[in-house]
Amino acid sequence: MSEKMIGCVRKGPGELVVEERKIPSIEDPTDVILKVRLCTICGTDIHMAELPLPDVIMGHEGVGEIVELGAAVEDFLEGERVVASCMLACGTCASCQQGDQSACLHPQGRVQHGTVMDGYQAQYVRIPFAPYNLCKVPDTLSDEQAILATDIFSTGIGVLERASLRVGDSVAIFAQGPLGLCVTAAARALGAGLVIAVEPNPYRRDVAKKMGANIVLDPGERDVVSEILDLTDGYGVNIAVEAVGKQVTLQSAFGTARIGGAISSLGVYGLEFDNLSIPSEHSSIVPDSFYHRRFVTTLCPSGRYRLQRLMDLMQYGRLDFSPLWTHSLPLVDILDGYEMSKDPKGKAIKIAVRPFS
Ligand SMILES: [Zn+2]
Ligand SMILES: [Zn+2]
Repeated sequence: MSEKMIGCVRKGPGELVVEERKIPSIEDPTDVILKVRLCTICGTDIHMAELPLPDVIMGHEGVGEIVELGAAVEDFLEGERVVASCMLACGTCASCQQGDQSACLHPQGRVQHGTVMDGYQAQYVRIPFAPYNLCKVPDTLSDEQAILATDIFSTGIGVLERASLRVGDSVAIFAQGPLGLCVTAAARALGAGLVIAVEPNPYRRDVAKKMGANIVLDPGERDVVSEILDLTDGYGVNIAVEAVGKQVTLQSAFGTARIGGAISSLGVYGLEFDNLSIPSEHSSIVPDSFYHRRFVTTLCPSGRYRLQRLMDLMQYGRLDFSPLWTHSLPLVDILDGYEMSKDPKGKAIKIAVRPFS
């Protein structure tokens, strides 16, 4: 094996290049090295590309084949096809032991590939805490299905789990980017009743219908808060999900969650609140206050058995994620993929990036 590979590297804020790097090697007995079969561009990558972070390879979502195992990694073999959670967790600290891996207390816990350590947008990647974060991919799942368990499907399920979704609950999801669409699919898979998706991009509204939304609304056309209240007899939805990280959508989520319900946000983006006010003019039933509702934020739930559960749901739950995959590129052309992903009016949702084609 040659010592060099290619990867998509952040040289500075907003400056990505595809260049040669050294192939990673085992640094800790719990590491494995993967040959990357498939990686992709996440909305978080687009945000991370603009930040003054270290000069590292981008990407936190991938599927790979094991090429090297650390001495402490049992249960896995060279050549196996695996995925790893995008939020690393140590598996042994107090939070991990109590089932909240997103709150891992280890100094390297909650670290994401592509932020301060080399990520998946390369031909090879090093995975720390492998015994805890790695999971074999069943033969029945494609790389495109399995990769969604590493981040957006886990987060999509997680935002509804943390909002305590019950069978038959009504759910409104504000924005249908890749994550919002996974929330739509997750709501359907978890047994939601009425699922309402709000999205300005007409192409994404069509995909939202395919992924399980009963009703899709265009926020450019109408007052979606009033519309959602009308659709729920003035009470609002049980769970309002904010899935883009903007104050305007968060405010709409606050305005549409019923008393006793929840506002659930994918809070990775450091949202700044500027005089957050809860719209009240729409309904006398949803009050102009924040009483008796829950507001939760969620980081991607991680760990080997989380991945196993999600892949079981995909295998046996008949979820169809194929509408998410709109484009495919070799790694050398990944910068074109970043440009496509940034266009809010475009048709790119998930772009399959293959490092060896
Ligand atoms: Zn992601
Ligand atoms: Zn931990």
